[in-house]
Amino acid sequence: MQNPLADFHKLSPDQRKALIALLKKRGIDIGRLPIAGVGRDRPLPLSYGQQRLWFLAQLEPDSSAYHIADAVRLQGRLDADALQRSIATLVERHESLRTTFGSADGKALQVVHDSLPVAVQWQDLSAPGGDSEALAAAWVESLERRPFDLQTGPLLRVAVLKLAADRHVLVWVLHHIVADEWSLNILMGEFAALYSAYCRGSEADLPGLSVGYADFAVWQRHWLEAGEMQRQLAYWQAQLAGDTPQLELPWDRTGPAQRSDAGAKLEIELPAASGQRLRVLCQSEGATPFMGLLAVFKMLLYRYCGQAQIRVGVPVANRNRREIEHVVGFFVNTQVLQTELSGALSFRQILARVRETALGAQAHADLPFDQLVEALSPQRSLQRNPLFQVMYNHQAAPTESVRALGDLQWQAYARAAHSSQFELILDSFEGADGAIHLIWTYATDVFAEATITRMAGHFCRLLDAALSAPQTPLRDLPWLSAGEGGQAAEFDAAVVTAFVPELIRRQAQINPQAEAVRVGDSGLSYSELLRRADALAACLVAQGLKPGEVAGVCLPRSADMLVASLALWQCGAAFVPLDPDYPAERLQYMLEDAGAAWWIGWAGEAEDCAAPIAPLPGKLRGLFLDRLDLSGVAQQPPAAALHPESLAYLIYTSGSSGQPKGVAVAHGALARHCAAMAELYGLHAGERCLHFASFSFDAAIEQWAVPLLCGATVIIGDPARWSLEQTLQTLHEQGISRIDLPPAYLAELARKLEPEQTLPALLGCTVGGEALPREQLALIQSRVRPKRMFNAYGPTECVISPLVWQAEAACDSLYAPIGRCVGARNAYILDADLNPLPSGAAGELYIGGLDLAQGYRHRPGASAERFLPDPFAGPGARMYRSGDRARRRGDGVIEFLGRADGQLKLRGYRIEPGKSKTPCWLSRAWRKRRYG
Ligand code: AMP
Ligand code: MG
Repeated sequence: MQNPLADFHKLSPDQRKALIALLKKRGIDIGRLPIAGVGRDRPLPLSYGQQRLWFLAQLEPDSSAYHIADAVRLQGRLDADALQRSIATLVERHESLRTTFGSADGKALQVVHDSLPVAVQWQDLSAPGGDSEALAAAWVESLERRPFDLQTGPLLRVAVLKLAADRHVLVWVLHHIVADEWSLNILMGEFAALYSAYCRGSEADLPGLSVGYADFAVWQRHWLEAGEMQRQLAYWQAQLAGDTPQLELPWDRTGPAQRSDAGAKLEIELPAASGQRLRVLCQSEGATPFMGLLAVFKMLLYRYCGQAQIRVGVPVANRNRREIEHVVGFFVNTQVLQTELSGALSFRQILARVRETALGAQAHADLPFDQLVEALSPQRSLQRNPLFQVMYNHQAAPTESVRALGDLQWQAYARAAHSSQFELILDSFEGADGAIHLIWTYATDVFAEATITRMAGHFCRLLDAALSAPQTPLRDLPWLSAGEGGQAAEFDAAVVTAFVPELIRRQAQINPQAEAVRVGDSGLSYSELLRRADALAACLVAQGLKPGEVAGVCLPRSADMLVASLALWQCGAAFVPLDPDYPAERLQYMLEDAGAAWWIGWAGEAEDCAAPIAPLPGKLRGLFLDRLDLSGVAQQPPAAALHPESLAYLIYTSGSSGQPKGVAVAHGALARHCAAMAELYGLHAGERCLHFASFSFDAAIEQWAVPLLCGATVIIGDPARWSLEQTLQTLHEQGISRIDLPPAYLAELARKLEPEQTLPALLGCTVGGEALPREQLALIQSRVRPKRMFNAYGPTECVISPLVWQAEAACDSLYAPIGRCVGARNAYILDADLNPLPSGAAGELYIGGLDLAQGYRHRPGASAERFLPDPFAGPGARMYRSGDRARRRGDGVIEFLGRADGQLKLRGYRIEPGKSKTPCWLSRAWRKRRYG
């Protein structure tokens, strides 16, 4: 039949549309008709793919990102003449190898030359004493990297590297604008045929070529522009509708703002038996091994990222027309295959979904990728690829790794990967023996080799699990190796031999005259502090206080706060701190909710010292410390026996969701935590520690209890009244060796420090309570220069600071890491199905072990929601759901990524107009905002 499209290119766009409509009526799909040849005497347009590469080449003429290469080892006697002639024949045969590019009137054109000689470069690397293999590797890389000039050509580079008289490496490098991987296979195959024939003195029998690439380029434009583009675009727009977030891959580093294409690769081989099982299972599901492997790859990405929509870029050869099967040129296209996954789906179900996506894509394979990118116009960034971040490519046909041509043995040459166009590329091919080879190419700007090695292992385990249990939900398939996902340490609850009040008493025995507390001009020695605490305890017992009772302690920043806490503990009672600045209704609520029977405060005269609740609620028994004369009280402390589960304190959470809840913390957990912090800090007797935290936060307890159990001095400041200058002055005058401040406040303090100003006494500096941005960390490190710096993290429910990071020189993450567990705790990073994640993967942070709060006071329901049995540790251990996103680094350190609900808690530091620089997060105004 005569091709009705032979003169198609001569028609006007309207005529073309009309002709297509007519043919369609007659049941002829023009996409199925052969491509017609167009004359070479007219200006030849570029295909869409070429257009994009031409554009990119103008932007970055020296980039080798779009070079493709192959290399083979030739063993035996090499016939140089036959080799040279073979290359010349290939250039003569394939127009693409004789094509150059240019533009006229702002339009890019390709020019097919009658001849464009390609000189084979001969390089002798066989000099004795030299490492010819290393030299060859370097040469291959430099040949690959050397830029091409698209305007002058040629765009094929061939070199022969001589390693020894009978050992050579043949290297081919082409610009992607004239070829693709398929083309390389054509060229290699034809080269082998030609070379063998020339060695024998005969001619090779190669398939005829009816059209060239330029004919395809013309045809593609006409076909797509006559309506096909719209049809396919509509399909893809529907497929990729909605906002799909970028894949949250387990990056090892954030990488530069503008990523380079630096890459490396890792090759693994699946056992032949796995390949066979995969083929059998896929066949029974009507799917191909490509679909099966893609399904497993998507399952892997789902488990890593926890995102429902998984997008993977897949190259399609686009060689489904017979007349272009043997044409060298740039036909390959990229498709975005998106599948919705969930942990409840089995491998069978996911495979069915992937199959459907892949078949749909196959039917819409001609829409050039760039048209799609343009139509969907995703946010462009210099760091990440638009539409997808991960690529998968499967080569179905087994490639012969060894073959004979003439006197030569021909063998694949393994090139090292130096670049990666995407963050991660998985290539798979089936070897002649049926084994499946997987090549993981990754961007070294963001990934470390160890991470990809682990990931490849996860892929193999997941594939194995999926093949063994194709009906099992994805969330139940094992994929981590033993010990991954954070091993639960075993803890011994009996380790607590003494509780905090007892430990402080020991210090008082060792050095009774040492200063325990200082507030402004007055100080208390250890013995005086304990004397007062014991007197108050005796007084409380005399008035009827019983072990297990709760007292509201509503005191301004003073040594009395410590006296009251120690006295209550001495009696076996617990306290709930009440900030005198809080609104009365809130205090009332807390007292009632806590079931407090006692109230300890100051009567005072000044406004903020007065009892904020007047009159006290009926049942409550009040005690005003400033009106109490403790001097005559008997000093024999009541000896209430404490138990690890005896309640030590209740702290009310801010209650952003619903009513504030009282977090109940027992003595065992508190003692273990404080002892572990003292050890971590390496605190010594005689050190001077600034107390800064508001007494209604749990950090305040740590800030006095830890120094006191080491024999150090607590300097109680009043930051709500201090300016930054006054804080600095106190640090100097008091010779403060430890500070623990909110990040924003410390950053402000750092800004205040002159570059040459130092704080010589400062041994340790802790920030915590909220995320520490990287910039603030750098500022603090460079200006404050503490000998050791810590970032303390902790929900109140996990007892003050369950995780602490000791700062390193540099921080690569957005926020300072939160480090490792302190005390008897384990940290887990879990996915939505409560499965552990491997290091690098982002998930929700759960904290398990013994040193957790008992739960919420009188709220079994709320407690059961947030505190789960710890499935990873032994019986009895519990686990708290933090609501924070985090990931574990390769070295075990945990990085904080933000709140799981995206609402980062930032108390912030604000300078109030008209006032001196006040850390407003502690001021009354701020509290009003926070607590209403
Ligand atoms: P709270 O229970 O009021 O102490 O608040 C605990 C929450 O504050 C945590 O769940 C985190 O979201 C945040 N947070 C506390 N400390 C840090 C820290 N060092 N880095 C990042 N976030 C923190
Ligand atoms: Mg906290």
